[in-house]
Amino acid sequence: MRRVSIFGATGSIGQNTVDLISRSPDAYEVVALTGAGNIAQLAGDAIRLKARVAVTAHEDRLDDLRAALAGSGVEAAAGQGALIEAADRPADWIMSAIVGAAGLAPGFQALRHGTTLALANKESLVTAGPLLLQEAARHGATILPVDSEHSAVFQGLVGEDISCVERIVITASGGGLRDWPIEALAEATVADAGAHPNWAMGQRITIDSASMFNKGMELIETKEFFGVSHDKIEAVIHPQSIVHALVGFCDGALMAHLGAPDMRHAIGYALHWPDRRALPVARIDLARIATLEFYAPDLTRYPALRIAREVMETGGRSGAIFNAAKEIALDGFIAGRIGFMQMSAVVEETLDAMSSQVRLTSPMSGLEDVLDTDQMARQMARTRITQMETT
Ligand code: NDP
Repeated sequence: MRRVSIFGATGSIGQNTVDLISRSPDAYEVVALTGAGNIAQLAGDAIRLKARVAVTAHEDRLDDLRAALAGSGVEAAAGQGALIEAADRPADWIMSAIVGAAGLAPGFQALRHGTTLALANKESLVTAGPLLLQEAARHGATILPVDSEHSAVFQGLVGEDISCVERIVITASGGGLRDWPIEALAEATVADAGAHPNWAMGQRITIDSASMFNKGMELIETKEFFGVSHDKIEAVIHPQSIVHALVGFCDGALMAHLGAPDMRHAIGYALHWPDRRALPVARIDLARIATLEFYAPDLTRYPALRIAREVMETGGRSGAIFNAAKEIALDGFIAGRIGFMQMSAVVEETLDAMSSQVRLTSPMSGLEDVLDTDQMARQMARTRITQMETT
């Protein structure tokens, strides 16, 4: 039996992972499931999958979790320390699907067991890519990409020589506001930006898709994970979300990965890797789809992409600042404090302000350095939002 843990089990990626695991109950022994506010889902899944421990990130919800698990034999735990302790429990395969920078520390802890870490938490690579890869190498651990674009690139590289890669193209749907006139974007509401044309995902990543901060994060992730120079990585808009990524080789061949927009594909690939096994995802009918379109993103509509390209070039601590400022800007938008187009202004101005305090290009020295930089950038982004509210 394979021992598995799912961090962020109650979220969109987590629930898709739970779905795949629960289809083969005899193949897996569930060590830990974690969540935050959704106690009923966490407890229900932990009981159904016979997990050893269920952890909520919220310390003040421990009693609720205990009550929901009463009599089941599943341990209850809560808080940041409990998340790290759960990551410390040996497992053969661990899904990292907590949203935001909160996913960083449990992922690092899990790598110390030489485990296989299925990485959905894109913030880990954006904020601390080199450190994460070093930690995995130090402990003989394996990191597998779960973002659909990166899973597609990873699959496209099987058996290939990375030095023969000329370019990597990741696709973007363009998000829920893709066809809006640019002038109207400033007035977009959380409900407008939170509706995705093709993918069913968590609220935060759906809004990040509309602004293309999500794609910007993925550009940075691509550079960090595959070690390819920034000028070989591009993003194109592909409204159908059928082609997830393409890899271009030195002989001119361009290999595309196609699949239905269903995250169980990338999760399942990581779960069964290095094997390929049957998955319960829809099969594509090319004749029915008929048309696959691609076009270059307009950087006026999507300033996040321009900023992300600058971050890719700068490297160092700029990824952590980009991510932290983006998270605070997104909070500000969701809370109605700033408009949709102001999110990119907050991120750009935070990067500018931070550049007078720290050298953006200097590498991170360790996890603490990452978390300190993250906190500093969050504070600056919050200050900027307050200034925006008063002007
Ligand atoms: P969701 O918002 O749907 O789920 C997030 C999960 O994290 C939930 O289990 C949530 O618990 C938990 N959580 C929230 N805050 C904290 C915290 N402070 N500490 C610990 N746990 C917390 O997110 P998604 O599943 O959409 O995304 C998860 C990650 O995967 C993100 O990094 C995202 O960018 C990435 N990703 C997502 C894709 C998708 O299709 N959704 C595709 C590719 C990557 P609870 O719900 O109980 O509050």
